[in-house]
Amino acid sequence: CGIVGILGNGPVADQLVDSLKRLEYRGYDSAGVATLEGTHLARRRAEGKLRNLEKLLKTSPLQGHIGIGHTRWATHGKPTESNAHPHATARVAVVHNGIIENFRELRQQLEKQGAVFSSETDTEVVAHLVDSYLAIGASPEDAVRQALPQLRGAFALAFIFTGHDDLLIGARKGSPLAIGYGDGEMYLGSDAIALAPFTDTISYLEDGDWVVLTRNSAVVRDELGVVTVRDTLKSGASS
Ligand code: GLU
Repeated sequence: CGIVGILGNGPVADQLVDSLKRLEYRGYDSAGVATLEGTHLARRRAEGKLRNLEKLLKTSPLQGHIGIGHTRWATHGKPTESNAHPHATARVAVVHNGIIENFRELRQQLEKQGAVFSSETDTEVVAHLVDSYLAIGASPEDAVRQALPQLRGAFALAFIFTGHDDLLIGARKGSPLAIGYGDGEMYLGSDAIALAPFTDTISYLEDGDWVVLTRNSAVVRDELGVVTVRDTLKSGASS
């Protein structure tokens, strides 16, 4: 129900959780974060309150400087730890707000190709679909570009990738997503409130947009793939 992504210059797990707390008002039943820990993606997920996730992070801390976080309001699959986001393969981790309407078809196709699913969610197809392109050598950007048009429904998505420590990709169709511009850091969040502790310089993606972020750049493309510029606001403003 809420999304955050951070390309930071220090460990981001605490910041991810702080930001998720600001999205609590939207309601949620479980929460999770993923960070890039050196050469692999690591996740921590917990049912129930953010307090449970915080406890888990105390006993099993994460050090990564780039990460994504999620509060979930379950639509497909019970509010359990294995259904909590982020969903991931060895190559990519994703958080999602919304509903992927054609997930059954996509899941069948991907399972035929050998994908092994570990949740009941609609969201997990996004991870495996993007992974299927990464597996045959596509760049993260190309993999997302090829996956997005196959997703029907409503989504805000944020992705991080194994082996890419200066890359965060976001996409929006039907669910809000904002870019936060920091000082040598970059953020994604469901709204300006989520990003308020980090930056007051925000731009909202429009429907169909997706964005490739590094710590020093944000390239937004519209649904047709055309590079586009979205107005930057000083926060307080909301979409
Ligand atoms: N449909 C997804 C799920 O049930 C995302 C729900 C949400 O927006 O939190 O896992």
